[in-house]
Amino acid sequence: MPRPRIDLHTHSTASDGTDDPARLVTVAAAAQIDVLAITDHDTTSGWAAAAAALPPGMRLLRGAEFSCVCPTGRGDRDVAVHLLGYQFDPEHAAIVAEQARLRAERVERLHRMTEKMAADGYPVDTDAVFAQLPAGASAGRPHLARALVAAGVVGSVTEAFATLLYNGSPYYVPKSDTPVRTAIEMVRAAGGVAVFAHPLARKRGRVVEPSVIVELAAAGLTGVEVDHPDHAPEDRELLRGLAAETGLVVTGSSDYHGTNKTTPIAAETTAAEALERLLDNATGVDVLTG
Ligand code: AMP
Ligand code: FE
Ligand code: FE
Ligand code: ZN
Repeated sequence: MPRPRIDLHTHSTASDGTDDPARLVTVAAAAQIDVLAITDHDTTSGWAAAAAALPPGMRLLRGAEFSCVCPTGRGDRDVAVHLLGYQFDPEHAAIVAEQARLRAERVERLHRMTEKMAADGYPVDTDAVFAQLPAGASAGRPHLARALVAAGVVGSVTEAFATLLYNGSPYYVPKSDTPVRTAIEMVRAAGGVAVFAHPLARKRGRVVEPSVIVELAAAGLTGVEVDHPDHAPEDRELLRGLAAETGLVVTGSSDYHGTNKTTPIAAETTAAEALERLLDNATGVDVLTG
């Protein structure tokens, strides 16, 4: 059998992707993906529609990308990080409550960012931002970015981030994310496995020291995303070394967001052995097969 194509990090319209969950599965099938994970930010609301659209033979992991904060290992202020959780029970009370809290906070924060821009004369309308969101979806800066594109303020989502929405911009409003150790514990308690998403994506800002990843491995982290579009070659090698030392499972994924980013689905992939090691640690829900 040829090596399966495995993409373990993708977004739908349940968060800041542009393909609805059924379309995401169709796009994955067209890219000859054998195993797909749907990992929207702070929500599981895309799982059912993705599952219903699975074509014969495709396997679906159900996951989410948890918005977290983490010490850097340098003693400066904590940094925002993302944790991928797979195969956890979506009805686990702590996860339900924390994801609902974060989604509410995301809405509130996007309102505040929109108001700040409107106060400075940008023609951005709240309805245009929030009309993009299906029930249960997570609001994010890309929704504001698209509204800015539609209003003609900027030419693209990328330009919106570069000029107005970047971390630390005058219009940026932070949200209070989950301590990463708490998120790892929640995912594990719900029968899932946790993977540190793009830990060395330096172009987004500060990143953690490698020692922090080693500590999290001892605190219940199962894997680390090594092959990611935002990782430089030397950082991938560093992370592969860390994984070899700690026993962390190495994953690779596209972090596909439809047309909100330029990366195609399956641009980066995970080895079949790595997937099996992840699933050996997951008991919350079954892997679905179409
Ligand atoms: P938020 O979750 O609201 O803080 O927004 C962060 C999201 O914006 C990330 O998950 C990315 O999908 C997206 N993002 C961050 N930087 C960029 C960028 N330069 N271009 C396009 N999308 C971006
Ligand atoms: Fe995103
Ligand atoms: Fe992320
Ligand atoms: Zn992502």
